[in-house]
Amino acid sequence: MIDLHTHTHKSDGTDSPTGLMEKARQHGLSVVAVTDHDTTAGWDEAAQSASGIQLVRGIEMSTTFYGKSTHLLGYLLDPGAPRLLDHIAAMSTSRQDRIYAMVDAMAADSLIDRQALHDVTPPGATPGRPHIADALIARGIVTTRQEAFDSYLGPESPYYRPYYSPQLADAISIIHDAGGVAILAHPQGRYNRDRDMLEEAISYGLDGMEVFHRDNSDIPLLVDICEHHQMLQTGGSDYHGTGKINRLGENTTKPAVLDQIIERGTLEVVCP
Ligand code: AMP
Ligand code: ZN
Ligand code: FE
Ligand code: FE
Repeated sequence: MIDLHTHTHKSDGTDSPTGLMEKARQHGLSVVAVTDHDTTAGWDEAAQSASGIQLVRGIEMSTTFYGKSTHLLGYLLDPGAPRLLDHIAAMSTSRQDRIYAMVDAMAADSLIDRQALHDVTPPGATPGRPHIADALIARGIVTTRQEAFDSYLGPESPYYRPYYSPQLADAISIIHDAGGVAILAHPQGRYNRDRDMLEEAISYGLDGMEVFHRDNSDIPLLVDICEHHQMLQTGGSDYHGTGKINRLGENTTKPAVLDQIIERGTLEVVCP
């Protein structure tokens, strides 16, 4: 079983990279990609604890497409590529400023403050709204991340703030410059993108789309588009530990598709 989309506590998952690899073994997975938001910080620890599991080193980049936050998966890319490093640094700043802006607005209403955020954010983690959710849970204001998103963290909330991220087309070229493979993550997600929008994204040079993901609403449409454009069709769980209901291995990628990713990518799969 090949799961090409998971998160660790280096972004907003709740498992350490070591813990993730252990759970992957327990679930009988053979291949796992670690794809933290805008960071490669989990790769080394995951590689050291991957015994019995093949590790695909990946990233989930934050991008902008038609003004909406859009996620892009990059696989087997050089972590030292200059434009990738620039992206990671820019996103660290942009995410941090945005999270503080949201927390400061909440502090003005006596909900949570920066200290409460620090208390729940693992050192070096990519800051995201899930950490604000965890701070709200720690203060007893909500009981789950889902409830926090529904009540305080969605785009319609008065506490919501947007954040800078590069255009999708630029992010695809950052991954390709780093020798990686670019896959549009959960292409429909909350936005129900139609064929025209997806074909425009394909025209920027995507290698494929994450067809098999619980947030996609019309999988036959995605399969059809991919077949028409001879694109790779991947699947992944988007596992976040206890932070989301997604279970490891709930969506998977076919071995022949992984072979294509390996052929196109720069890095090796880690096979300890
Ligand atoms: P941000 O990175 O701050 O834009 O937050 C978005 C991230 O929050 C997504 O990538 C998910 O990992 C997570 N997320 C979004 N919606 C939910 C939800 N309803 N419950 C739990 N986590 C969520
Ligand atoms: Zn996440
Ligand atoms: Fe995502
Ligand atoms: Fe994800």
